[in-house]
Amino acid sequence: MLNITITKTSAPKEKPNPEVLGFGKFFSDHMFVSEYTSGKWVNPRIVPFAPFLIHPASTVLHYGAEVFEGLKAYRTKDGGIQLFRPQENAKRMNVSCERMCLPTVPEADFMQILTEFVRLEQDWVPSLPGTSLYLRPYLFGNDEFLGVHPVDSAVFMLIGSPVGAYYAGGLSPVRIMVECDDVRAVKGGTGYTKCGGNYAASLRAGKRAIGEKCAQVLWLDGVNRKYIEEVGAMNVMFKIAGEVVTPELSGSILPGITRSSCIELLRASGIKVTERPVSFDEIIAAHGAGTLEEAFGTGTAAVISPIGEFFHLGKSYTVNGRQIGKTTQELYDMLTGLQWGRELDKFGWTYKI
Ligand SMILES: *Cc1c(COP(=O)(O)O)cnc(C)c1O
Repeated sequence: MLNITITKTSAPKEKPNPEVLGFGKFFSDHMFVSEYTSGKWVNPRIVPFAPFLIHPASTVLHYGAEVFEGLKAYRTKDGGIQLFRPQENAKRMNVSCERMCLPTVPEADFMQILTEFVRLEQDWVPSLPGTSLYLRPYLFGNDEFLGVHPVDSAVFMLIGSPVGAYYAGGLSPVRIMVECDDVRAVKGGTGYTKCGGNYAASLRAGKRAIGEKCAQVLWLDGVNRKYIEEVGAMNVMFKIAGEVVTPELSGSILPGITRSSCIELLRASGIKVTERPVSFDEIIAAHGAGTLEEAFGTGTAAVISPIGEFFHLGKSYTVNGRQIGKTTQELYDMLTGLQWGRELDKFGWTYKI
């Protein structure tokens, strides 16, 4: 057990109006911090949320040694609070750390930090339907040295941000641009990690997508520019002739916890799911044959994001008349039912605080 010291704020902030939370704009009263030095994590503490000093030569500022996680604390109808598969976030963060030569955090410590933080910030978990307290653990290299090297010093932090219902007016299918120039990741690179650098490299295509009146980018593989990888910062699934297909985890794709939960939920409800390479040509062919039934992204922030249209080399391919599909809606209802505790959790995925 860690001995986490807690210094409470003397100036608690007023809670924002839950109707207008949006995503990542408001922060709770405290933050967790611990430093890694001489081979161990030291001084684990929860302190008032505030900016902090950083050395101008800190590794993270120059060489991008940073990984993060994202999960939510949900208010259940009995007034309790629960997390969704948080141990998976602990494991995945350590996989990311290993790739980036950053020190890992023992899973039990990660869970204790989450639990103590959410207990302290419990009043920050909103209760309006669809809202939650988004939790952002992050870890960065912090040597005070410009040499390129695996770090000796790092910082692990956790902040919380009350977030709104992603879809204020119900799930509405979005238009997606198929990106043919930039790639998000390649095999052997950092695509399977949740590192800040992946996001930095994705922004240019995202900006182009907005210019094409598209909400997000559909990423293709870096070698053949042929096989589908992800949609924006979400995993992607297609329903073709009754079967759900999704790109297999090839090394360049982020192993989403929502993705794996969707696969299990779909299979439990009798739908065939196949993880395999999926080319965009196959999507065009299915569209032409009338068998492209549904398409959607999966991720913690939006849960499920239905896709209404693909835009590729000047041509548009609509999906299900730009309406949300039946399976997409059912999956959204099942997942959010478990996350907010409306449905009985047969899977053991929820974690009560
Ligand atoms: C976080 C993330 C996802 C979704 O992962 P979840 O665990 O479902 O939230 C998908 N793709 C990328 C690139 C991500 O960073």
